[in-house]
Amino acid sequence: MPHRTVTPGPAALTHDPWLSHSVRIERLVEEMPGVATYDLVFDDPATAAAYTYQPGQFNMLYLPGVGEAAISISGDPGEPGHIPHTVREAGNVTHALAELKIGASLGLRGPFGSAWPVDVCIGGDVLLVAGGIGLAPLRPVIYALLRNRDQYGDITLLYGARSPEGLLYADEYTDWRSKGLDFQTTVDRGTAGWKGNVGVVTELLNRMSLPRPEQTWLMSCGPEVMMWYTIQAALARELSREQIYVSLERNMNCAVGLCGHCQFGPEFVCLDGPVFRYDRVESMMKVHDL
Ligand SMILES: Cc1cc2nc3c(=O)[nH]c(=O)nc-3n(C[C@H](O)[C@H](O)[C@H](O)COP(=O)(O)OP(=O)(O)OC[C@H]3O[C@@H](n4cnc5c(N)ncnc54)[C@H](O)[C@@H]3O)c2cc1C
Repeated sequence: MPHRTVTPGPAALTHDPWLSHSVRIERLVEEMPGVATYDLVFDDPATAAAYTYQPGQFNMLYLPGVGEAAISISGDPGEPGHIPHTVREAGNVTHALAELKIGASLGLRGPFGSAWPVDVCIGGDVLLVAGGIGLAPLRPVIYALLRNRDQYGDITLLYGARSPEGLLYADEYTDWRSKGLDFQTTVDRGTAGWKGNVGVVTELLNRMSLPRPEQTWLMSCGPEVMMWYTIQAALARELSREQIYVSLERNMNCAVGLCGHCQFGPEFVCLDGPVFRYDRVESMMKVHDL
């Protein structure tokens, strides 16, 4: 199959990007200390009916009197009626969010940003590599790929966390595997009772067979150092730069390319990203702390 070099560009905005919609917390799951998943539903049925998103996109969550934070959508794009966000407590907004209970209201504007290339890799093998909370923006890809499982070759997820307790969405693993996901986990530090892999996620990548590198697409999200080593391992296994996609985070304010907070070289993470094809950001990723 020939390489396709289409990069999914920034999604066209079909909504007023400044308008924050009222949403409610419908369900709340504490994933681990300091990290929770909030399923949000719109108060307005018409807004709920019109809202769709693509895997990899994010919303700006707004807590009146506190501020806004960019948070990836971690749900199933085929079921946009309730919109999960997996959030790690970091600062003002996320700490305030952590105080809220089921039924509480907040604001949401979005969706924003570019998408993972789930259509580009139809017919090929897909390799997902995630670290820690970086699985959240990739979970919509898992749902989308498994919904159309017959359109893809091998689908593999390599997922690393610091400890077994840091592995997100553990109650879904059996279901994902039963639907055709080759799924391997690893942790930096095992605990008593952990019988799985110990080590960094790139070790899993180095060990796995990649029978069709020219038809394999890599999507990776996690700490930048993890993505960097993942990319080097993939390049060594003969994936081209055009077959590698990463999701980048930068401090974000407006989400519509005006404020410049998330500028990354010539790119705005909010408009051109957060999902980038690697050849577009390689030179910037080499610059430490850019
Ligand atoms: C596209 C995108 C998607 C994201 N998705 C998620 C997600 O799914 N779950 C999640 O928990 N977080 C996510 N984040 C990160 C989240 O937006 C930040 O942690 C945000 O700052 C939290 O807001 P706050 O008010 O709680 O913390 P703040 O008070 O804004 O920040 C706390 C500290 O983190 C620093 N900081 C802020 N943003 C970043 C950043 N992007 N990278 C490094 N340091 C930063 C600040 O300078 C400050 O020191 C995402 C960010 C982006 C850009």
